[in-house]
Amino acid sequence: MKRIGHWLDGRELGDKAERLGDVYNPATGEVTAQVALASAGEVDSAVASSHRAFETWREVPLTHRARIFFSFRELLEANKDELAGIITSEHGKVLSDAAGEVARGQEVVEFACGVPHLLKGEFSENVSKNVDSYSIRQPVGVVAGITPFNFPAMVPMWMYPVAIACGNTFVLKPSEKDPSAANFMAALFKEAGLPDGVFNVVHGDKVAVDRLLEHPDVAAISSVGSTPVARYIYETAASRGKRVQALGGAKNHMLVLPDADMDLAADSVVGAAFGSAGQRCMAISAVVAVGDAGDALRQKVHERVAALTVGPGSDPGAEMGPLVTGEHRNKVLSYVEAGLREGADLAIDGRDIKVQDHEDGFFLGPCLFDHVRPEMSIYKDEIFGPVLVMVRAESYDEAIRLLNANPYGNGTAIFTNDGGAARKFQHEVEVGMVGVNVPIPVPMAFFSFGGWKDSLFGDSHVHGREGVHFYTSGKVVTSRWPDPSLRGVNLGFPQN
Ligand code: NAD
Repeated sequence: MKRIGHWLDGRELGDKAERLGDVYNPATGEVTAQVALASAGEVDSAVASSHRAFETWREVPLTHRARIFFSFRELLEANKDELAGIITSEHGKVLSDAAGEVARGQEVVEFACGVPHLLKGEFSENVSKNVDSYSIRQPVGVVAGITPFNFPAMVPMWMYPVAIACGNTFVLKPSEKDPSAANFMAALFKEAGLPDGVFNVVHGDKVAVDRLLEHPDVAAISSVGSTPVARYIYETAASRGKRVQALGGAKNHMLVLPDADMDLAADSVVGAAFGSAGQRCMAISAVVAVGDAGDALRQKVHERVAALTVGPGSDPGAEMGPLVTGEHRNKVLSYVEAGLREGADLAIDGRDIKVQDHEDGFFLGPCLFDHVRPEMSIYKDEIFGPVLVMVRAESYDEAIRLLNANPYGNGTAIFTNDGGAARKFQHEVEVGMVGVNVPIPVPMAFFSFGGWKDSLFGDSHVHGREGVHFYTSGKVVTSRWPDPSLRGVNLGFPQN
């Protein structure tokens, strides 16, 4: 059985783990590898390595750092198919989707190539007589990243390129469900010239996370995962004085007005709800159809879902792959049962899906519930699978009230041809990322990604300018050079 070890000081550690976790191929249901689950002591070794590396990495000139990032970018480009294949083999998503994830992560690496520009400070001459003032931003130290299973390459890449480019060192704790992408990226980064210890990977579960949250030499935590875990990480790390950004779960709504281009809305919602089998933090999982939009949309969604091909992610013809584990598939199935019990109308039932030669894979076909009411669990909870719920609303006002009452605030989209309605929506909606006729409005790397309310704890979004800000501390220097004409004791508070 293949073993996946921690990546420490520029190499993958051998087979010494006391605890191991199973890694599946979701398309076949087989255990394909076992991953080391770190003890607190192993986390300490990784943090100690990163702490040592910080002393020299922070001194590396910006242009040298940028050159390593340019090389890393080229290596990612050259190896993107292999990385996509690794993602598909452990996560299950189709290869084209995995390649898309790599490309979006690579864009953050491209953003980080510009770090000499991003770290420029401000300078004011003569703030007082012969006195100048300037601001600089410096790295915070060792940063830890805790990431979810659903984007094993892209979500870590939201964090570590920006943190490392800013002069920090990084310990990544990826999801134990699909750990191989992290080691693959670490090996490419080493090949690009990154010194050993600047990027370490510890695999593991809550034991590893808890040690990172309490370790005195970890200065900042970036995490992405479900809301209960995000809240726990935020509260625990903040209580130990760390800087924290903890991104949580989502229930992303698409609002469809009757004047929308209904074909575009249907194409968009099918892609956004069922891509990656609904296991995206920006997946659309609830549609709010205003007026008679619901009937038209239901019909068009039905036609498109009927034409979808569900199959193993490695099959170029497949559009939707399996869920990540059997346990997760069963949890999603239990929501379908709950929706039926609660009286929602199961307009599309994907429970009977059979994928030839993959009978033990973790497949579930697309499901659509119509006439869902806000008090139902299928509306309230994040299901994180291919289950789309449709709520009917009489008016825009009723729809926006529903959206804003939701505890999550990650992404949302409005579909309409009315510019005034779209503008009103973007102004009123209490959500961090908004699409106008765009179903998955994931910001580009040079903007920042993040939700509101229970979708993010902390005040910084990831990557872009907010990422640079999160991974650096500000310092303002006030300076003058001795001038004999400006001497004399003055006990007053300095003023101009
Ligand atoms: P998860 O919360 O189970 O795990 C996330 C990370 O936390 C993993 O590394 C895991 O090992 C660790 N972890 C799990 N339980 C823990 C505990 N009790 N204490 C400490 N650490 C723990 O999430 P997941 O199932 O891997 O990923 C799916 C979730 O992530 C969904 O809720 C999804 O919405 C969310 N997500 C959010 C975003 C976003 O941008 N807001 C992006 C991607 C995924």
